Amino acid sequence: MLVTHARLATLGAAPRLIKDGALFVEGDRIAAVGTTAELAARYPEAERWDAAGHLVLPAAICAHTHFYGAFARGMAIPGEPATNFPQILERLWWRLDKALTLEDVRYSALVCLVDAVRHGTTTLIDHHASPSAIDGSLDVIADAAQQAGVRACLCYEVTDRDGPHRTQAGIAENVRFAKSGAAACFGLHASLTLSDETLADCVAAARDLGSGFHIHAAEDQADQQDSIRKSGKRVIHRLADAGILGPRTIAAHCVHVDQDEIERLAATGAWVTHQPRSNMNNAVGVAPVEAMLRAGVNVGLGNDGFSNQMFAEMKAAYLVHKLAQRDPRAMPGDLVMQLAYAHNARLAQVFWPDLRLGELSEGAAADLVFLDYRPTTPLTAGNLPWHLLFGLEASAIIATVCAGRVLMRDRRLLTLDEEAITARSRELAALAWKRI
Ligand SMILES: [Zn+2]
Repeated sequence: MLVTHARLATLGAAPRLIKDGALFVEGDRIAAVGTTAELAARYPEAERWDAAGHLVLPAAICAHTHFYGAFARGMAIPGEPATNFPQILERLWWRLDKALTLEDVRYSALVCLVDAVRHGTTTLIDHHASPSAIDGSLDVIADAAQQAGVRACLCYEVTDRDGPHRTQAGIAENVRFAKSGAAACFGLHASLTLSDETLADCVAAARDLGSGFHIHAAEDQADQQDSIRKSGKRVIHRLADAGILGPRTIAAHCVHVDQDEIERLAATGAWVTHQPRSNMNNAVGVAPVEAMLRAGVNVGLGNDGFSNQMFAEMKAAYLVHKLAQRDPRAMPGDLVMQLAYAHNARLAQVFWPDLRLGELSEGAAADLVFLDYRPTTPLTAGNLPWHLLFGLEASAIIATVCAGRVLMRDRRLLTLDEEAITARSRELAALAWKRI
């Protein structure tokens, strides 16, 4: 397939903005990048896709999400409003996740995947919980992702909060799924719901798999208080000492980490993911992202189950650090871009080692998003981040390609039946709400 007449923003190490650009896609990879004139001459026989001046970017990557959270939209939470993060977990998330059946898990995932395809997000790292339907839950999600045509790295959140039987079932689900050969890591909920014994069990199980972990870390002060009570150590030290942190592990959030913990994170090579919309919504604070980056910590950008529209997460990241630090120099646009594309692409390589994502270049994955964006000011490779942050809206996204396969074209989904998924989701969510 030869994409022609595109305004190509290549990103990558040597970003270019090619005005009348073309891409030759061969199988699941980009085989050539150039101008329309060059590539049309080189591949005269190729099937053409005339992009008609649309902006083409690498598709987005989400470093941390929860497909299981979709049914929370519009859900009334009984009782007094939660006043802090532990109450949000107890009153909302731990009621919702317990109510989910395997069919709910499937539709909750499908709803998120429709959203992902609509918004050009083709690589997602999910963190799943459904305590009443643990066994096989990751297969159900993998199946939904395959149906959608996107790639997903999955895990099950092991926790002690639902009793020892479900702790073991969670461990078994991670092991079973990882052994299937699919993209996976070993899921853990958070330090505050895990005993030392369970951490040790998980480390032993993951060692056999050669797998890293995916865990919420220091999302709220409550996680620190609990960790100090349990172990006399702050969260990052507790997790590092237990053998949880390493270059294949994701520690989501890290809002409440001190300088010592930041240095420990850097030393372990662990990945931190930043989810500013969720942090604002839960009123937990603002993660010291720039301090972590300065210390050499790997930081990527997730969405924590908010929309799979990564532009919205990027905008939140761009804004919240400025407000929190009362400093307009905080979190510059090009840094936000780096988190969302270069860093997330590097994180994705932990799970898909042969894939080059987040850039349009020869040999990179053919993961593309097409936008109907007509810049009203000059657009260059250098100022693209600020067009993205101030000009681009999700409504401009018109086509999505993952691994060379067209998932949406002219805003029409080609792999998922959005109408049927939406209708069934509404029915299932109503039933789940009744059970809560
Ligand atoms: Zn999360």
